[in-house]
Formats: sequence, structure tokens, C-alpha cells
Amino acid sequence: MKLTWRRITAHTKHAFKIARSGSSVSDGGKAIERTIVSIEHDGIIGLGEAAPTPFYKQTLESVETALAKMQPLLGENPDDIEGIVARLLQTFDGDRAAVSAVDLALHDLWGKRAKKPIWQLYGYDRATIQPTSMTIGIDDIALLPQKVSEADGFDILKIKVGMPNDVETLTELRKLAPDKKIRVDANCGWEPSSLSERIAQVSQFDLELIEQPTTTHQFDALRDARKSSPVPLVADEDSAKPSDVEALAGVYDGINIKLSKCGGICEARKMIALARRLDMKIMLGCMVETSLGVSAAAQIASEVDYVDLDGHLLLADDPFTGLILEGGVVRPGDQPGLGVTEI
Ligand SMILES: [Mg+2]
Repeated sequence: MKLTWRRITAHTKHAFKIARSGSSVSDGGKAIERTIVSIEHDGIIGLGEAAPTPFYKQTLESVETALAKMQPLLGENPDDIEGIVARLLQTFDGDRAAVSAVDLALHDLWGKRAKKPIWQLYGYDRATIQPTSMTIGIDDIALLPQKVSEADGFDILKIKVGMPNDVETLTELRKLAPDKKIRVDANCGWEPSSLSERIAQVSQFDLELIEQPTTTHQFDALRDARKSSPVPLVADEDSAKPSDVEALAGVYDGINIKLSKCGGICEARKMIALARRLDMKIMLGCMVETSLGVSAAAQIASEVDYVDLDGHLLLADDPFTGLILEGGVVRPGDQPGLGVTEI
């Protein structure tokens, strides 16, 4: 196996910001860089994508520094993905975006060698995948009508909250989309001391779920607020990896799993199994990433309750193709591996 990587640049259709500082994308909010990993074995190449997040102290540089040390840990057997990922995590637990890119490339390689898509190799039924939510970026409230009309083909909208004008924004959004499901993501933006009030305030808008209301590890405040919350609370930043999940039972109603956060498909499948055992709901999300990264998530999307896989749909110039979008559902294709090809 030979591990190499390169950077690509893509552009989002719109600039967008979220409540948490330091997470807006660069270059006026429109250019994003990603690291694409290739693993070659017997002339077949598997591809994976790293979408590092500043919140987890990951950058393209930290991803590539980690990748530069991984070749000796890969071993000789590309089919032992779980073993390879476990080995990598012993050294690179804090570099899960990099581990995820390798996990994805190994899955792509596995599927291409077996000439089957990953969802099929895992025995998943892609016909049962739930519709995805479509993100409505926080902008001038005057732009909401345009944003909502652009999301016309989607029955579930997701909007970032945690701003002073949340109620105003949600009032307007509900007016524009009276029949759609609305998910909100506070991205750690609400104070634990006023959590119940904030939840009560937004609950009047008939929300499907609230993602990560507070900063991480505010478990007492969350446990209290959850007792009276009519809306399910879903951990995102609090549910980074499998070892986080157990402590979240009774604190949150569900967890949001993202491949680049947890370390790839192997770790995500562990989180799914854990959450199911703990009777928690499961959401599957993504970063702003190309169809390569999102297609990896789509392979396992039949196993979750809430799908939030719109990262590639936010791009103006997605360099990969192969994911299917029909009736608001993002489905993996029939092609082997992760099912995408570079344009
Ligand atoms: Mg989130």
C-alpha cells in the first residue's frame, strides 16, 4: 500500500458563518481547501477526504503532518481496515480528520477491489435512507426568502442559531416554510444558565431537534433542561468519538456523528452501535466537503435517524461526482467503493 495526498480547492455557493467563532470559511467565505488522500494497492487507488475543523484543533497542516507519519503503520493487508484504523488511532487520536481520510481511502479501495459499493458490502439498504436537511446560512435576515426558495427541493431545513436575533430569524423562517421540518444548531452558542429559557423560546417554532445548545461538557445544565424540553437535544461537539457516547445517555436524546470528527467509517459504525444500545437517536452529519467525503457518509446513512448530508450541495464546484440526490434524499450510487469519480 502506498499513501499519498494532495490539496484541492473548492468554493461554496454562499459565504456563511456560524455562531461559534473561528469556524467561518476563508477567502471571503467562499474558498475551501481539503486534503485528498490516495492509497494505492496492486494498481487500484482508493480515495479519501480530510475536512479538518478548527474546533478540534485540526488544520490542513496538522492533517498532512499526521499523514506523513502513517505509511509505516498501514501494514500489508488493505482488507484489515479496522485493524489499521485502530493502529493509527493509538498514535493519532487527536488527528481524527487525518485518520478518517485514510479510513475512507481504505474503504474506497476495499470496494473497488471487491467491485461493489460499500453500502452493499456492509449489507445496508440504501432505499431506507432518510431525507437530508438543507442548511440555511445565517445572513442578513432579508436574504432568508431567497435562501428558503433555493432549498425548495428539501423538506427539512437546518438553521444555525445562537445569535441575538434567533427569535426574529425563526419567526421569519417559519413564515416562509410553514410546513417544513426545522432543525436548529446552536453550535455551542447558548449559556448553560439560561438554557431552559432559550429552549422554550425556540420551541414555539415546532422544531424537529436542537443541536449542541451549549459549550461542551455542560451535562448538568443539559440534563435539567432536557426534562422540560419538548424538542430532542442532539450532541455534536460533545459526541466526537466512540468513547464520548456512553456519558451522553440521559444528557442528550441523540448524537450527531461526522466521519471527519470521529475518524472514519469504522469509528462511526462503533458510535452507531453504541447509541443504539443506549437507545439514543442518531444523526449523521458532515462538514462542508466534496462528494467524496459526503459519499462515504452516505454509504452508512441507512443506519441513522436524522441525515444531514448537504456539505457537497453547498459547493459551487464540487470536484467529485457520483452521489444521487432524489426527492431530498442523498443516496450513494452503484459504483464500487465510495462510488464517486473525479470530474
Ligand atoms: Mg453541529
